[in-house]
Amino acid sequence: MPIFNPAVETMERKALLELQNERLQIVINQAYSNVDFYRRKFDEAGLSPDDIKTLEDLKRVPFTTRKDLMDNYPYGMFAVPLRDVVRLQFPLGLYGNPIVIGYTRKDLKIWRELVARIMAGIGITEHDILQVAFNYGLFLGAIRFNQSAELIGAAVVPASIAPAEVQLRIMKDFRSTVLASTPSFALHILEVMQKKGIDPRTLSLKIGLFGAEPWPPEVHRFIEENWGIKAYDIYGVTELVEPGVAGECPAQAGLHICEDHFLAEIIDPASGKLLEPSEEGELVLTTLTIDAYPLLRYRTSDITTLHLEPCPCGRTLARMDRVLKRSDRMITVRGINVFPEKIKEVLASFQAIGPGYTISVSKKKGMNDQLKLGIEASAEIMGAGLEKKEAFRDALHLALRRAIGLRVEVELKERSAVRG
Ligand code: ZN
Repeated sequence: MPIFNPAVETMERKALLELQNERLQIVINQAYSNVDFYRRKFDEAGLSPDDIKTLEDLKRVPFTTRKDLMDNYPYGMFAVPLRDVVRLQFPLGLYGNPIVIGYTRKDLKIWRELVARIMAGIGITEHDILQVAFNYGLFLGAIRFNQSAELIGAAVVPASIAPAEVQLRIMKDFRSTVLASTPSFALHILEVMQKKGIDPRTLSLKIGLFGAEPWPPEVHRFIEENWGIKAYDIYGVTELVEPGVAGECPAQAGLHICEDHFLAEIIDPASGKLLEPSEEGELVLTTLTIDAYPLLRYRTSDITTLHLEPCPCGRTLARMDRVLKRSDRMITVRGINVFPEKIKEVLASFQAIGPGYTISVSKKKGMNDQLKLGIEASAEIMGAGLEKKEAFRDALHLALRRAIGLRVEVELKERSAVRG
């Protein structure tokens, strides 16, 4: 299988570490000089950018968290003037202050190459037809597949959120060879195929590029065996680049991190102590080349393990295990990130609700499928007629859908019947 950028992807680790070290000096200096937040953090820790001379010194730099990004909304984390920013993106569904991420033209160019690297690495070429079945409105990364596929020369079909039947029709008529979607949507398409008696082998599809939610190895096996395609995982972090931080290679033994652009560390999520890469812990990333929105030691809340030994595919870039756990309370339901804190915010705007509520998630093949809320409602609502109750439930559905982008099943209960 071809390697898109062999000079980097197969670089001797010693040379890679030197490159990281060089880039680290630059990003630390830029962050310190241009972002008040970092300058304050360094000053408080009694650190000067000159103190960070080697990768080993990085552990002295304080972590950056999602709360820091929220506290510095909108432009407090930007390291370049706004005239140099060409795109602004804001992830939906976060609670409290939103986050705005900026990108310069150079940042976007790098990002485009990173996804192209991952695509080329699993055999996507100019002969392929890539069907993108991500929600372009809710998933910031969807558009990335278009731009990176175009860089490779593959044809893109932005099928977006068309229902499974339409996706199948497109797949058949256009002879799509690659599907990019959440694994849960791929499962859904597969189920529809089985129900309609369509033999997947009559389609031209050969590769699935799946991500944006945790998917257990059983689902991976199930899709590959029942669909007859190769399924690869792609990883990103909404606050950095998503996708494009890491991706699987043909060896399917972990996701290669684009280490020339991101420096990865593993920490104990409780104590913040640096762990050995091979130990399971929270992934912490430092951007090495991003100009507009540099993040130093950003806590991703994703739990994983790193592998530094060479991969059978020939790449020397470290691999991370597929992320199945988080260190915070975020859950991903059918590819959409949901914070319980956000649900709490929405519920607080309804006087007739609370104080108790429960959040539960039903599963399908080990993946989160449907969000359910058990809500205490006032005696007035509970005692009301069917019509009023339905109107209340509709208002609640709408508010939740607007806030988190998902349909939520709601069960109303007498006050004090639930506690959560
Ligand atoms: Zn590999």
